[in-house]
Amino acid sequence: MRLLPSRFRRSATLGRRSAVTSMLLAFAVVVVLVTIFILTALDRMADYANRLDDERSRETTSGAIQTFQEQLHATLNDYAAWDDAAQFVYAGDNAWIVGNYGDMTANSDLFDVALIMDTNRNVLMAYQDGAPVTWSPQNFFDSSIWTLFDKASSAGAGTVPEAVGFVETKNGVAAVGVALIRQKSGELAQPVEGRRFLIFGRHLDEKKILKLGETYVIGGLRFAGAGDTAPNMVEIRNIHGKALQRLVWNSRMPGNAAYLQVRPLVYCALAMVGLFFLLLFASGSNTLNRLKADEAAARHLAMSDRLSGLLNRAGFFAALDALVLQSRRSNEDVALLYLDLDGFKEVNDAYGHGTGDKLIRGVAAGLKTLVGETAILARVGGDEFAIALAATDIGRAVETLSDHILGFFGEPFVIGERVATIGTCIGVAISPRGKVSGEELVRRSDMAMYHAKETGRGRTEYYRPEMDAEREERNMLEIDLRIAIERREVDVVYQPVVDARTWRIIGVEALARWHRTGYGPVSPEVFIPIAESTGLIDQLGLFVLHRACETLALWPELKLAVNISPGQFRDPAFAVHVASVFRKTGADPSRITLEMTEGYFIQNPERARAALAKLKQLGVKIALDDFGAGFSSVGYLRQFGFDRMKIDKSLVHALEEGGRAIDLLQATVALARSLEIPVTAEGVETEAQAIQLRLTGCDELQGFMFGKPMSSQEIDIIYRGNRLPGGMSGTA
Ligand code: C2E
Ligand code: CA
Ligand code: CA
Repeated sequence: MRLLPSRFRRSATLGRRSAVTSMLLAFAVVVVLVTIFILTALDRMADYANRLDDERSRETTSGAIQTFQEQLHATLNDYAAWDDAAQFVYAGDNAWIVGNYGDMTANSDLFDVALIMDTNRNVLMAYQDGAPVTWSPQNFFDSSIWTLFDKASSAGAGTVPEAVGFVETKNGVAAVGVALIRQKSGELAQPVEGRRFLIFGRHLDEKKILKLGETYVIGGLRFAGAGDTAPNMVEIRNIHGKALQRLVWNSRMPGNAAYLQVRPLVYCALAMVGLFFLLLFASGSNTLNRLKADEAAARHLAMSDRLSGLLNRAGFFAALDALVLQSRRSNEDVALLYLDLDGFKEVNDAYGHGTGDKLIRGVAAGLKTLVGETAILARVGGDEFAIALAATDIGRAVETLSDHILGFFGEPFVIGERVATIGTCIGVAISPRGKVSGEELVRRSDMAMYHAKETGRGRTEYYRPEMDAEREERNMLEIDLRIAIERREVDVVYQPVVDARTWRIIGVEALARWHRTGYGPVSPEVFIPIAESTGLIDQLGLFVLHRACETLALWPELKLAVNISPGQFRDPAFAVHVASVFRKTGADPSRITLEMTEGYFIQNPERARAALAKLKQLGVKIALDDFGAGFSSVGYLRQFGFDRMKIDKSLVHALEEGGRAIDLLQATVALARSLEIPVTAEGVETEAQAIQLRLTGCDELQGFMFGKPMSSQEIDIIYRGNRLPGGMSGTA
């Protein structure tokens, strides 16, 4: 045996867990993405700030270089456009020239090279760092010096005869300027061939670069080395555009600095956002879990029966389907035991619903212990229970379990101060390796249970395929019966009822007969239950009553008994229908007895009493039929005011056994008579029985001895011939 597939519970938890994991994962991805976005944005901002700063450094550096060159230009202009110079240079005053130009190259920040040349580029004086030099300009300067020279010397009227630019020298890079020596006013009396030019050079060495860096606040400003690949630099070009040197500096990277400053804050903010989301998620999943728990509780409630605490019908079907599915994999057989209680309704009606509820709880608890933890147990109807179990040796398991259950119901139930005896019938259906679906199992076990009921109480019946055929046959029967009733093909026969002393016919009992077309006669024991369970009995019963009342006109001295099923009683208009039959047929109600079994009186005492009262108002008599066959109690006779009691043939036939049976019969009849209720005995087959019954106190007899149920014509012959029924002669 096996419990409800645990796999289902596990997969549910797994599903929930994986949902939580994927949510966490998505959440983590979002956080990572947001982090990346923010850091990238910050990085870009930093980069932009860096580039902006470098751009500014580049401009400052270019400016510094420009200024360096302009300073030289200004100095050159001072020294060349100078009235003294125009006088002394052109006068050839060498002492003046050396004193004012050559010597000035020593320790000067303004220029460190000074030359005087004539128009034909002949060097008249050349000084560097305070001393005359031996180098020739061609060797010392690059060729751009001559471009500057030409520019300065070829300047026409209106333009300044000066030219400045960077030039590469033997010592490095220098700002170099060439200017015509002239009066401050620009005037010059010299012819072109006699002109003198002043050339200044101002070297840009590392010391000066360092100073520039300090002055302009450009950190690490320097000449680029061979391996220097700094992205930011400024080139120093000569007038030909040739790059002479490159200046680089240390980027300050203000963006990076800012970035470093804000990064911890950003991380902090991100962490807080993450934390917030985590909390949100945690509380969300908490709510989710609670919702799920609520949902599970609701589902559990919807699946369980409140009274017994067991699964209800819906819960059982779900669990059964799961069990069948699982047994397919585990190669086990599934059995379904369907239980229907006998006598529960009686307890409920007799003792009230409180007691009925207690009984159901008691049964549920008892079954639970018998069935154990591993099988599925459910209450699937008012007094119906179902048990499903899976096992490899299912036959043995079912046999043991059903034996135990029947044994359990064999004992009376004690409910408070009351004791109730109830029974059960068990229908069993088996699904070998889960091949039969849960739904089909229910259908089969239900059918088996009905068979068990039909064949007696306290039985276990296994489903057989023939049951389907029987059910099918029953369905066909029902269809045919319906047609027969509609076409009035059902006949009514009459069985004589005789005076117990004279054995003369005093009445008849109307009995229904059905000759099924193509099949032959069908016993009322078969078609009456079908008519009862399908509701056809209303039509059928009234038809028999109608036909019998019509026929009764033939026998003015006879009484008529007609059978009424409990089902007809449930129709609230039943008494109205009966009255209408009497009216239409003109039958005298006082000659008519309606026979009923006690079933309905037990089930619905109040309504039965009311219905009986209405009928009795019509003037008909009521007989309690089949007394002694069921739970008959003399108490009913008095309680409901029956006019007659009919002793069942089983009781009559038991007379042969003598002893106890005779005592019982005598006691029963005596009791009825003491209540002044006359008694009819039915099923009388022998003279001995007839005599015994008369002696006991029965005033009317009925049975094959006096006549089988027969056609109205046959009754007619007996009636008209005034002969004794059953071929008897004389008086008893
Ligand atoms: P019941 O009302 O107890 O009817 C008496 C039954 O006992 C009849 O069976 C009758 O044929 C049988 N019987 C009579 N004398 C003897 C005898 O000496 N020995 C034996 N062994 N049996 C005897 P039947 O006609 O087969 O009817 C069976 C049952 O069907 C009836 O039992 C009654 O409950 C029901 N039934 C028949 N006709 C109607 C009807 O029109 N309406 C209703 N509601 N039920 C009917
Ligand atoms: Ca009867
Ligand atoms: Ca009877």
